[in-house]
Amino acid sequence: MSRVLIIGAGGVGNVVVKKCAQHPEVFTELWVASRTVSKCEAIAAEVDKLYGVKVQTAAVDADSVPELVALLNKVKPVLVINVALPYQDLTIMDACLECGINYLDTANYEPEDTAHFEYSWQWAYQDRFKEKGLMAVLGCGFDPGVTNIFCAWAQKHLYSSIETIDILDCNAGDHGHPFATNFNPEINIREVTQVVRHWQDGEWIETPPIMSDECVHFTFDYPVAGPRESYLLYHEEMESLVKHINGLKRIRFWMTFGQPYLTHLKVLENVGMTRIDEVEFEGQKIVPIRFLKALLPDPGSLGSNYTGKAVIGCVFKGEKDGKELHKYIYNVCDHAECYKEVQAQAVSYTTGVPAMIGAMMMLKGIWKGEGVFNVEQLDPDVFMDELNKNGLPWQVVDFEGKLPE
Ligand code: NDP
Repeated sequence: MSRVLIIGAGGVGNVVVKKCAQHPEVFTELWVASRTVSKCEAIAAEVDKLYGVKVQTAAVDADSVPELVALLNKVKPVLVINVALPYQDLTIMDACLECGINYLDTANYEPEDTAHFEYSWQWAYQDRFKEKGLMAVLGCGFDPGVTNIFCAWAQKHLYSSIETIDILDCNAGDHGHPFATNFNPEINIREVTQVVRHWQDGEWIETPPIMSDECVHFTFDYPVAGPRESYLLYHEEMESLVKHINGLKRIRFWMTFGQPYLTHLKVLENVGMTRIDEVEFEGQKIVPIRFLKALLPDPGSLGSNYTGKAVIGCVFKGEKDGKELHKYIYNVCDHAECYKEVQAQAVSYTTGVPAMIGAMMMLKGIWKGEGVFNVEQLDPDVFMDELNKNGLPWQVVDFEGKLPE
């Protein structure tokens, strides 16, 4: 009996619930809880219609540990899949510890009042999860998540040592809106407006944010999507990969952005709409980025008109048996196909499918352990097979393209 509770009923939550419902032999009982229970009920109704699977729903404020504890004691799941927002990671981990429940998420903790995300807060739970004999798996979406698994698989099967990793994330899709984000706008804009960092020879090197004229970018020729301008960006999986990939000398993360997106972002930043602190407005306090979120399209609603592909992968340089080796592992995901299957765009899909697979690995006992783990610390083989079976097939090819030195 594997009863699982999914927290969060947004773009990603919708995919996780539907993908779990496709495996009733593993996920024998499903619950979805979120702040707005009507969103959970809407997903449950669709799952019933699509798969004939009953999903139970609940309202919870995941910022409150007592509310979470009451829910966990009522539901008694073996695992919580956290696809709410990064702000709730620690409260959900606290509640899991109190109730003796395993934990999995897709994004690392970020305090609401500081646009800074890093693993240190969640790694600090290592001893507490270990003492309770529980497992917490961090960052099991696509990036972080599948990109880390690609690195673990390359380290295990392709290389004696990996010298450099370039993670390349291309969304070549078109949703028809002049400006929209593909996942929660607040979290997304906080991420992409930061000072950029990459890691080289043991230290983090800072470069200007992507809206700056001095930012670092180049044109990469993506499989299927073709040449796209790709911008150096800080992304959280680099923080754990520098610890877990042996002999690594450099890791960078690149993401494609179109010029209209960057122009909008620059204007929004310049006029103060991306601020995360409170400002006084007509007698009340508002946080500009929250107001902006209310105006922008809900990422979950983008799917119905989304066309084109997302192409995400890792380019490796290293050596095997004394020979230099360049490999590229990537997935191509089609927005419209995702919508047809689970009524979601590819960014929600590529995050939700790996979260389901990670949960499956834990429930089947393929991933076992006590403490807090990043996914590259766990065996990648069955996970890689499941990607192929669950809508995210990957390819590994010799890399013949060019990357900046
Ligand atoms: P959405 O904003 O669409 O959904 C978030 C959900 O969390 C909503 O249902 C929201 O409820 C709920 N929620 C927010 N605050 C609370 C709270 N205090 N208590 C209970 N529920 C709450 O976001 P996405 O689905 O796009 O993203 C979900 C997560 O996935 C994020 O953490 C994001 O960073 C991560 N992600 C990871 C990626 C990866 O590749 N690793 C890629 C993309 C996203 P309400 O509707 O009431 O606001």
